[in-house]
Amino acid sequence: MPKYITAPYLRTGIKKNKIYIGFGSIQAEFNVEIGKKILTILNKLKHPTEISVIQKLLEELLQDDTETFKAISNYIFSKHWLIEESIYNKEERYSRQKLFYNIYSNNPDIIHQKLSQKHIAIIGCGGIGNIISVNLATSGIKELTLIDQDLIEESNLSRQIMFRENDVNSNKAEALKNSLLERNSKVKINTHPYNIKSVSELNILKNVDFIVISGDSKNLVYDVNKYSYKNNIPFINVGYIMDIAVWGPIFVPSQTPCFACFSEQNISKYNTHDKNLAQMIINVNSRSQAPSIGPINMLAGAYASLDIIKYLGGIDTPECMNHRIGIWTNNLKVEYQENIEGNCSICSKNTLK
Ligand SMILES: [Zn+2]
Repeated sequence: MPKYITAPYLRTGIKKNKIYIGFGSIQAEFNVEIGKKILTILNKLKHPTEISVIQKLLEELLQDDTETFKAISNYIFSKHWLIEESIYNKEERYSRQKLFYNIYSNNPDIIHQKLSQKHIAIIGCGGIGNIISVNLATSGIKELTLIDQDLIEESNLSRQIMFRENDVNSNKAEALKNSLLERNSKVKINTHPYNIKSVSELNILKNVDFIVISGDSKNLVYDVNKYSYKNNIPFINVGYIMDIAVWGPIFVPSQTPCFACFSEQNISKYNTHDKNLAQMIINVNSRSQAPSIGPINMLAGAYASLDIIKYLGGIDTPECMNHRIGIWTNNLKVEYQENIEGNCSICSKNTLK
């Protein structure tokens, strides 16, 4: 029979006559009398204990108080206050991540196994591709395919943190591969040092489990969206618009609205049939160069990485599952974009929530 211990992340504290158990999303508060009983149990469970014994401990301590017994049992067994003893080994490479998975699930080992079988393609190995690839590689996924034709320029070093001065003039996909392998030599990494120029070239994605686009080509996003739908491969677009970090939606074909379901909300040259007007907009935009700074690349890349890990590991519903999300870094406004209702020409779905 498996044995359980109090999860190492379950910190406790007291404020204004309330005892707090667990911080963050699992935080709960109790009055001091009940809190003391819980602390007694949690202290005993520093030693590995079978579930049946834990049940008895609770019954003994709370025999006259059925209501508290029920409430505490619920917290102990379903709010992830415990972790299976055999899963937590402080010395193990992925032990801290498994603690994180345990906040959401009783099966951190299964989540890790799932992730360790995944192959993810990253189109665009710049600032955001750097962040997402290193988060995925160090979390122990099986395989990455990195796609980018560009050479590293000196001006990239301000934000593309996986590259070093020695990498200037090297191909981004190749340099990123080397940099990632120094951090996790067990991940298989394929590189494709070319841009995808035609729809037929998208077939290099046919064996992957998930596609990330962190490039700035609008047409490519729509081509990959169609490819994703036809081939049943989930994908996400990640980027920034000026000082807004943007990610999502994760498109899961036949389950969620696709990227095009959101696109009519974009401020774009495509939203008019007046050709002169469109041309005027294009003329002004032709001189555009996006500003880019490390922290905003990291912000978009970090949130997207977390959502990808949650999705591929089956941990929790990713925040961007049915949303395109933007964090306005000037005022920390979080903008959730919903999909447009009505039939989409790509996924032919109505609103799915
Ligand atoms: Zn759609």
